[in-house]
Amino acid sequence: MLIKKDKSIIQSYFEDQSGLTGGSAESVYIPENEKEISDLLKEASSKKTPITVSGAGTGVTGGRIPFGGIVLSLERFNNITDITATSAVAQAGVTVKDLKTKVKEKGLMYCPDPTEQNSFIGGNVSTNASGSRGFKYGPTRNHIKRLKVVLSTGDILNIERGQHFADSSGNLEITSNLKIKLPKYILPNIKNAAGYYNRPGMDLIDLFIGQDGTLGIITEVEVILKPMVEKIFSGIAFFPKEELSWNFVTEAKKDVPGLLSLEYFDKNALELLKGDYPQIPDFAKAAIFFEQDISGLNEDTTLDDWAKLLENYNAPQDKAWFATSNKDQEGFREFRYHLPEKVNEIVRRNKLPKAGTDIAVPENGIREMLVFYKEKLEASKIPHLIFGHIGENHMHSNFLPQTQAEQNMSRKIYIELVEKALSLGGTVSAEHGIGKLKHIFLEKMLGKSGMQEMAALKKSIDPACILGIGNIFPKELL
Ligand SMILES: Cc1cc2nc3c(=O)[nH]c(=O)nc-3n(C[C@H](O)[C@H](O)[C@H](O)COP(=O)(O)OP(=O)(O)OC[C@H]3O[C@@H](n4cnc5c(N)ncnc54)[C@H](O)[C@@H]3O)c2cc1C
Repeated sequence: MLIKKDKSIIQSYFEDQSGLTGGSAESVYIPENEKEISDLLKEASSKKTPITVSGAGTGVTGGRIPFGGIVLSLERFNNITDITATSAVAQAGVTVKDLKTKVKEKGLMYCPDPTEQNSFIGGNVSTNASGSRGFKYGPTRNHIKRLKVVLSTGDILNIERGQHFADSSGNLEITSNLKIKLPKYILPNIKNAAGYYNRPGMDLIDLFIGQDGTLGIITEVEVILKPMVEKIFSGIAFFPKEELSWNFVTEAKKDVPGLLSLEYFDKNALELLKGDYPQIPDFAKAAIFFEQDISGLNEDTTLDDWAKLLENYNAPQDKAWFATSNKDQEGFREFRYHLPEKVNEIVRRNKLPKAGTDIAVPENGIREMLVFYKEKLEASKIPHLIFGHIGENHMHSNFLPQTQAEQNMSRKIYIELVEKALSLGGTVSAEHGIGKLKHIFLEKMLGKSGMQEMAALKKSIDPACILGIGNIFPKELL
């Protein structure tokens, strides 16, 4: 096992994309196999040394940032060991990009495809990440067949989906001598990455998906693969009014077969992108990026159908961008990816953590939520923009504060946004997780008792309380 102690070298492990500062740790351990991890965890448990797991550090909630103890990095777990027609086995440190490329060579695809291609598959499982095609394929959780997990007790679990379920009294067996009782809090039945997964009769594997490095170290992931979609049609449509783009989405969701993505950009998001994409039309106050699986459909008819739909909502067809070739489609996906990258660039420059929501609401609440976002953000006068997964009623509204006063104000408004979303039956995090920055929002969602139940659950699986301290709930609850 490689151990790094040089402060100037390990400093980079104390950061992610959240802008959270002040992280520190004694050393970074870089193991090569599960035995090394198991031994390290047993020793750390006996000494109560906190361990923060590090993936690629692309997280946006401070999850991998340590505040004391040691860092355990999975960067050497970077092999793809097996690919069949229906699944691939990847070690936790394999990047999304490498996994996608390797399976593509065999005509296969890994459907969740989170936007940040440099993130590790282990990090994706730990945060239950989603991608722009979440509209069709759902989050990482839906595509995980098996996990290898090392517990802080040193036990190495091989958890296969469909093998271990909670019984009707809510008991769930983790190992032959460890059984837990499921918590009582109820999670909304929508896209959600907030809090430990908890459903009656749940599969054991789901507890370790979205656990934010707090229950065990994921070392190996068997993902489900699908044959590559044969033919995709994609486009970016520009609208003269935001409301028109919202109406367009409602109709597209009802009427368009095979939709893969529906992604939103508000006028401020388009303004930000204009520097690099001057071809964005000046009249545009909103845009929708869409992708449709058109295998077996006629391209010309598809274009006609989209043209009619665009016309219904005053989105000029001659100003819309369409793509049928792989190269152009990749260009559109880069356009989408470029936006969170630009946002993170500004956050780094301003040296103040952004207040970026990851809220999702049920279908019947999205319109009210969008109107509320707009009102609150515009009234604040703080630089802001709204974009995201409108097809799944899941938006990222981002305040980009430039001063401490603006940051304080944006945190306050964020709470109002959270309260509104919760009143509509929503969630405070649909894909990024809670990490160290969103405890208070999760408490609003699950109550103090829900937070305490999660802490108790963690303690029963990680009795020395060493893993991912400060993630999901405050360490004081332990
Ligand atoms: C430009 C940009 C775009 C993004 N787009 C998306 C998006 O579309 N969808 C989305 O969901 N997220 C997105 N993200 C956020 C981020 O990419 C995801 O949260 C990703 O899953 C984090 O993976 P990582 O390997 O970087 O994890 P890290 O940031 O290193 O860690 C994240 C958390 O997982 C834990 N962890 C990491 N590896 C393991 C492991 N092997 N075992 C146990 N715990 C572990 C860490 O301790 C930490 O708590 C984006 C980020 C950026 C910068």
